[in-house]
Amino acid sequence: MKEFSRKQRAENRVVGLVPTMGALHDGHLSLIKRARLECSSVVVSIFVNPTQFGPAEDFAKYPRDIEADTQKLSDAGVNCVFLPEVAEIYPPNYSTHVTVEGISERLEGRSRPGHFRGVSTVVLKLLQIVQPEFAYFGRKDAQQAAVISQMANDLNLNSEIVICPIVREADGLAMSSRNAYLNAQDRQAATVLQRALLAAQKTLNAGARDAQSLRLAMGRVLDQEARGKVDYAEIVDAQTFQPIALVNRSAYVLLAVKFGTTRLLDNMLIELDEGVGHKSIVHL
Ligand code: AMP
Repeated sequence: MKEFSRKQRAENRVVGLVPTMGALHDGHLSLIKRARLECSSVVVSIFVNPTQFGPAEDFAKYPRDIEADTQKLSDAGVNCVFLPEVAEIYPPNYSTHVTVEGISERLEGRSRPGHFRGVSTVVLKLLQIVQPEFAYFGRKDAQQAAVISQMANDLNLNSEIVICPIVREADGLAMSSRNAYLNAQDRQAATVLQRALLAAQKTLNAGARDAQSLRLAMGRVLDQEARGKVDYAEIVDAQTFQPIALVNRSAYVLLAVKFGTTRLLDNMLIELDEGVGHKSIVHL
């Protein structure tokens, strides 16, 4: 992999990396499309990273379909697929881990202890191996993208972290490899995440700026869907992921809801137009 990247750079190609855990869907493909627009050589990694799964989580049953994935990647015109083995990434004497303090400890970090330590460690390793000029991540996992951006800044990495929009199913559910775990009833109920975000958006558009009003609006929608157990529904500062009481700067509305054993995430990014009236621009 290192040799391939070295050759690409020697030929003055711009290398882009899209890290994934496979079971590819249109969300992944949107990152690849963006990478192809901006880079002359696109590397996609598929690695189901054991260190980002908790002991009671779904590492063993995480969907894996290398054949279908490589076909999709070939159709998408990627230049290289990187499929490392677990033992290559973590040989028996492996002992270095990256912890991004603060931001990693909240929300997803609180619900999944050790998760972000696994994510930041593997992403740093992938960036070191591939040495891309750009690396592409989805806003679907907004906190993950923020943790990685923080790491890239703090450690002066040579790769620019690019965060891409959320791709959704026709009914609004954010695409995720884990959606495949849902039974028919839960799949239908799972649209409640986006419906709750839309309620928050409506409240915001009506002029509310206090986080409590947004939370109440989401709560009213979430309460109607008994199948979904809310892990968190929070309004946070878009950089630090600290909870905020007032939306007076860029912020995320973040949701994690469990259906049976399947935990789903969704979010909405609020940017404030500093011009007249502080109009809010919402990205769903
Ligand atoms: P994963 O394979 O789930 O680790 O995801 C690999 C990358 O794809 C991550 O940067 C995700 O945030 C991104 N991604 C996953 N689902 C979506 C989606 N629905 N829209 C945009 N990006 C996504």
